[in-house]
Amino acid sequence: MKKFISVMASILALAVGTPFTSPAWSTEFISIGTGGPTGVYFVVGNSVCRMVHKEAAEGRKKGRKHGIRCAAPSTGGSNYNIGQIKEGELQFGVAQSDWQFHAVNGSSKWEGKKFSNLRAVFSVHPEPFQLIARKGSGINSWDDLKGKVVNIGNPGSGQRGTMEVLMKARGTSISDFKQATELTSSEQVGALCDGKVDAIAYTVGVPNGSIGQAIDGCGANFVNLDSGVEKKLVNDNPFYAFANIPSGTFYKEQKGDAVTFGVMATFVSSADVSNEVVYEVVGAVFENLDDFKKLHPAFTNLDPKQMIKNGLSAPLHDGAVKYYKEQGWM
Ligand code: GLU
Repeated sequence: MKKFISVMASILALAVGTPFTSPAWSTEFISIGTGGPTGVYFVVGNSVCRMVHKEAAEGRKKGRKHGIRCAAPSTGGSNYNIGQIKEGELQFGVAQSDWQFHAVNGSSKWEGKKFSNLRAVFSVHPEPFQLIARKGSGINSWDDLKGKVVNIGNPGSGQRGTMEVLMKARGTSISDFKQATELTSSEQVGALCDGKVDAIAYTVGVPNGSIGQAIDGCGANFVNLDSGVEKKLVNDNPFYAFANIPSGTFYKEQKGDAVTFGVMATFVSSADVSNEVVYEVVGAVFENLDDFKKLHPAFTNLDPKQMIKNGLSAPLHDGAVKYYKEQGWM
């Protein structure tokens, strides 16, 4: 008899699909591209996933389910993430506002590879472009980089791209350096403190543990970037702004304010990702924004009204627009 029932059940299941598990959503996996494991993007991506999974768990209790399962692996950074979203390998990613702009407009590094389907979702924290010199390297200004070992960053990272833009604006070429290395964000501070490189560049939120390791841990110094060249970059480009890292605030060994230019970290996706998924991800973040803000000190000042417009140059994703309109923010 028992056997008969189970046979009947499987015939029934075949005939009507699987009647015993009928979620409103089938499970959908999303991947968020981040940056190096010691950066802030990695915290952004994993914090978004945490909120998505929290909403899924709470939704199950209330009977309103979404089946999104989220992962946020470490990656090469901004331009890598945008490229993988374009390929459909990632659904979301964190990217600097300058590279969001260039990808959607087909300019700079994205010339001839315009990604029209790139969509903005929201912006997160400001990211100053930080040039840091090794203690004893004698580097106090951009011109002092001549003849030194400079880490220009791994291809695909935001800082590599922004470094190339700055080098071009400054009329500096790789051959002006003794050597240009391509270490990742998580390798470069160790190399700086070990004396293997003289200077590093990192576009990253403040504070950041690896910058702290350089400034406080091995006596490195910020190099100001506030000459006429940077002023022109800021004046000519909507995605740049001047930034100040005040001394005695984030890094206790920092001597004097660091003045430089910077970008916004932004959360991006593709028009190919469904409105439903983007709507749920955005809802999970904004409904839990107070919890989200506690996950990294760089998130302390996040404000929804700013997050839905600052640093965004690609069109907003329709799924995000739906949520922002419901909140009365648009
Ligand atoms: N801005 C860097 C990039 O685009 C990443 C910074 C971070 O990981 O927080 O590659």
